[in-house]
Amino acid sequence: MTAKPVSWTTDPVERLARKNAFDASLTVGTAKFNRDTGRENLRPPFSQFIDPATGLIRADMLRPRNCPICGAAPGPGLFVKDGFRHVRCLECDLIYVSLILREDLMIQHWREEMAWTMVLKSQPQAELDRLKYDYGLDLASERLASRRLLDVGAGTGDFARRATERGWEATALELNVESTNALARQGYKVIVKPLEMADLADGTFDLVSLWEVLEHVAEPKTTLAETRRVLADDGLALILVPNSASLVTRLLHEKSNTFGGHSHLNHFNPKSLTLLLESLRFEIVELETVITELGSVNNHLHFQDPYLGEAPAFFPDLTPEVIHRNLWGSRLLALVRPGAKPGPRRGARPEANAAADLPESAEPEAAEGQDAEPRLARPRPGGRRKKS
Ligand SMILES: [Zn+2]
Repeated sequence: MTAKPVSWTTDPVERLARKNAFDASLTVGTAKFNRDTGRENLRPPFSQFIDPATGLIRADMLRPRNCPICGAAPGPGLFVKDGFRHVRCLECDLIYVSLILREDLMIQHWREEMAWTMVLKSQPQAELDRLKYDYGLDLASERLASRRLLDVGAGTGDFARRATERGWEATALELNVESTNALARQGYKVIVKPLEMADLADGTFDLVSLWEVLEHVAEPKTTLAETRRVLADDGLALILVPNSASLVTRLLHEKSNTFGGHSHLNHFNPKSLTLLLESLRFEIVELETVITELGSVNNHLHFQDPYLGEAPAFFPDLTPEVIHRNLWGSRLLALVRPGAKPGPRRGARPEANAAADLPESAEPEAAEGQDAEPRLARPRPGGRRKKS
């Protein structure tokens, strides 16, 4: 299939209509969607390991972490959710979990996790995801001449499958055992390793997609540096993450389903995501929000359970258009390209010292000059499952 014409992406009305079509609040309805996808049955998977003395997950299961964007020590605590402490970085405004699960526990969880896989496989979820994936593919396609895709954290493989149907040559990277077995049976190229361990050649892909990946990885900077390395010079990365500055999250705070701690480690907003991307010399082509969660907003404003009720609009003027114009949607969607690999800029930012913040195992890439991205020898989880 050839690339879509540019028209709909530059027509705000058409573009909003495309977004609204995969917004469950506006189509299926919040209560029905949560019931039919099985979301209402999800439970925090590590609650049994909470130490009653601290309210936190047992100390031997955790490891400390500084801000994964700027390296600053944990800022003021915001709240504890499901045994995990959430803090905010005063430097870059990132909300993140400062004591995360040990890496072996996290990888084991991703390999074996089933509850979320069942949500992804549910019919209502798959139908909306298909529209969302078409939206992302169309955004990228019109700017790319070739069609080599790496889908990081491919989950059940629906995006790789959709891209293949549309003429892309797709490679899926995923850790979950059931998902990778199913993908391999269907003949897809599957990499069952974190991205940093996949040993992919430089410039291999025209598009690297990270649908709901960066919120899960302990070191998103490393994942993005590796993404940049495997991208062709004129390639693109497509990134979707939860938006901590969304209206629904600003209203619900720790009651928001986006916070859990075992899996969502980083909560980006437009500012912190931009800082992260620019620290790795990505140029932002598109940055917008999708998915209003307007149903949950209305429920909350009517003193109802935000996830299981149904309520009429509270502010009639609060429309999807208003929400997205203000970047208040519940997901941030970014389309980015590798920027030039050039010399020093004026007014060096803190991120210019990124390499100094990386572990000792980081090695400068050979023959790329002083601005080469570091390649990390140490394994890190990159092949992530989707979770929202
Ligand atoms: Zn920071």
